[in-house]
Amino acid sequence: MSDPSAFSRVGRRVLVTGANTGIGQGIAVSIGRPGREVVAVGRSSMAETIEKVEAAGGRVVSFACDLVDGEAVKTLIDRVWEKYGPLDGLVNNAGIIRLAASVELSEADWDHVIDLNLKATFVLSQAYARLAYERAGRIVNIGSLLSFQGGIRVASYTASKHGVLGITRILANEWASQGINVDAIAPGYIVFNNTEALRADADRSAAIIDRIPAVRWGIPEDIGDAAVFLLAPASSYMHGAVIPVDGGWLVR
Ligand code: NDP
Repeated sequence: MSDPSAFSRVGRRVLVTGANTGIGQGIAVSIGRPGREVVAVGRSSMAETIEKVEAAGGRVVSFACDLVDGEAVKTLIDRVWEKYGPLDGLVNNAGIIRLAASVELSEADWDHVIDLNLKATFVLSQAYARLAYERAGRIVNIGSLLSFQGGIRVASYTASKHGVLGITRILANEWASQGINVDAIAPGYIVFNNTEALRADADRSAAIIDRIPAVRWGIPEDIGDAAVFLLAPASSYMHGAVIPVDGGWLVR
């Protein structure tokens, strides 16, 4: 067997988008250990994430960016690289969902979701690869169960998350030979802001739990642990893979 630390030894500096809360925060906390720096990117205060990562012995630097601001997104990776040094990994986590029947979904809600969930993921990956080409690197994209399934009343979200899987695959194809791994995680139902309304609905919540073989909702750290694996040497021969972390939902 290879060195067990190969499963946890992520690079020194990893950028995580949307790291102030939810799954992004869980990923930051899982990465944040002594000797590691998380570059926490988003538009809200990273105070809580800083506190949690520092408690685990890691370090966080925060970098403000609204990821639907196309111009800011284009230059983000270059600006971070210049300010803090090379990035060993990029985790494209920030994402939103908009609920509406497809006949009613507004163009604004379509654009907003696609711009953040899909376009920013591609543009950041492109900018990252241009710099990482010289030194290898890791990209982890956050998909969804709706990377595989249709869902209901979430057309722009489903389109964006199918797209995230698509670009994970094409970028893995193009960049594997340059030493850049591009993979994805498809989280199941995770306890956090995104699913608050769902959990508050007793009937829906019970129906969801009933369908999950693991009989529980996931927690952000479940996704964090999978992200660490995809950033660590143990997954170095994985390119274009998607790991469902869903308590078994997809195989039910
Ligand atoms: P949250 O709503 O808790 O967090 C979303 C994150 O995205 C926040 O950090 C938010 O920052 C950030 N964000 C939103 N808009 C922007 C923007 N314009 N610029 C920069 N950052 C922005 O969601 P989750 O933690 O649940 O979701 C994280 C990812 O996981 C998403 O991609 C989501 O689609 C995916 N996912 C979540 C599942 C779940 O069950 N929770 C299931 C499957 C996938 P701010 O606080 O400032 O808005």
